[in-house]
Amino acid sequence: MRMLSTRGVAPPASISDAIAAGLAPDGGLYMPESLPTFAPTDFDDDATLAQVAKHLLQPFFAGDALERELDAICDTAFAIEPPLRAFGESGDFILELFHGATAAFKDYGAGFLAAALAALPRGNKPLTIIVATSGDTGAAVGAAFHRKPGVRVAILYPDGRVSPRQAHQLGCFGDNVRAFRVAGSFDDCQRLVKTLLSDAAFKQEVPLGSANSISLGRLLPQMAYYAHASLAHSRATGRSLNFVVPTGNLGNAMACFLARRMSLPIGRIVLANNANDVLAKFFAGDDYAPQSSLSTLANAMDVGAPNNFERLQWLEPDATALRTQLSAESVDDDEIRDTIVDAFQRHGETICPHTACAVRVLQRLRAEGVEGVEGDWAVVSTAHPAKFPEVVEPLIGREVPLPPALAAMLERPSHAQALADDAGALRAILHD
Ligand SMILES: *Cc1c(COP(=O)(O)O)cnc(C)c1O
Repeated sequence: MRMLSTRGVAPPASISDAIAAGLAPDGGLYMPESLPTFAPTDFDDDATLAQVAKHLLQPFFAGDALERELDAICDTAFAIEPPLRAFGESGDFILELFHGATAAFKDYGAGFLAAALAALPRGNKPLTIIVATSGDTGAAVGAAFHRKPGVRVAILYPDGRVSPRQAHQLGCFGDNVRAFRVAGSFDDCQRLVKTLLSDAAFKQEVPLGSANSISLGRLLPQMAYYAHASLAHSRATGRSLNFVVPTGNLGNAMACFLARRMSLPIGRIVLANNANDVLAKFFAGDDYAPQSSLSTLANAMDVGAPNNFERLQWLEPDATALRTQLSAESVDDDEIRDTIVDAFQRHGETICPHTACAVRVLQRLRAEGVEGVEGDWAVVSTAHPAKFPEVVEPLIGREVPLPPALAAMLERPSHAQALADDAGALRAILHD
């Protein structure tokens, strides 16, 4: 199947070219030219997550260089099944997407992208992936590419502006994954990455790739866990499952939206924002107005201009129609704190600040009795609470035990190289 740019100027690309390129050359985001639809009976009753992923993604890869690799890529990326389990007292569910290497949902998309890029044929020069991170993305990308042959990774993060635990994680890979602590902000890191990625002459000498969240190689595979969970739920109950998705750049929720368009048994999709409320305002009826981002307790969602909004508008250009298909709510830091405390005291559940936004939104929908709220709901849990001990531990008054993968990572030595906010310095390092 062909992939089209949302800006409509770049020529259509194969899915492997779209995955290799990240961004389309006209500055747009790639989207599949059509969305196949599925019936629940298209999937085996006991299909694993990897099997669901293969079936769901196959049409996009038909005729592509990666088609024959798709099964192996899915086996690598979807080895860990996310539990869908009961949560609280109202018959709700929680979909835990944090059981991967770095304990956040980004492990799924990064794992798929890494396996896909490693399987692509290329010349004899290694591919260098450069990624700017404010914390979670860099670790997921580092873990996914660690020791993959023919690929090296440069992680750029703002020195002193990620948590100590996050910094340790980013620097602990070694081998083909290097961390750089940049004298600047996250925006400066992103600018450095963009400068190099758009430097055609440099890319001739040092082949570069991108792994940020706009890549189709991260977006499409995320549909798999929504498909898997909703199919299991509909088999068990005959009902569709509604989701509340913690949302920043709109990648995770976009995947849920696409899965519903492909006829999976998904009911309502509600986006949970933190105080960065650009989407909540849009879905309440305002014009879409990107803002500069605010710092909140749910820092992986501190996004003022969600970059996947362009994909949503491309799929559904009519704002009124779009507002009938999705909704969004914003949650402030006080509510995040209250929700973490409440979940612990009433249900013995420890949740991360991002997950708390989704839990709060579902409570609000219930309290307001909005239409359709009677159905079955799953809140999406995007990260393990042990990733955010500074926030969570003082609220619940105890330590959050580390999951084993995270504990192992924190025991490894960690090193990051200092880097000036200067594209020339980065070029010189990557040349060696
Ligand atoms: C990245 C991230 C999010 C936001 O996901 P988007 O796809 O950017 O909307 C939410 N929670 C956690 C823990 C994350 O790391």
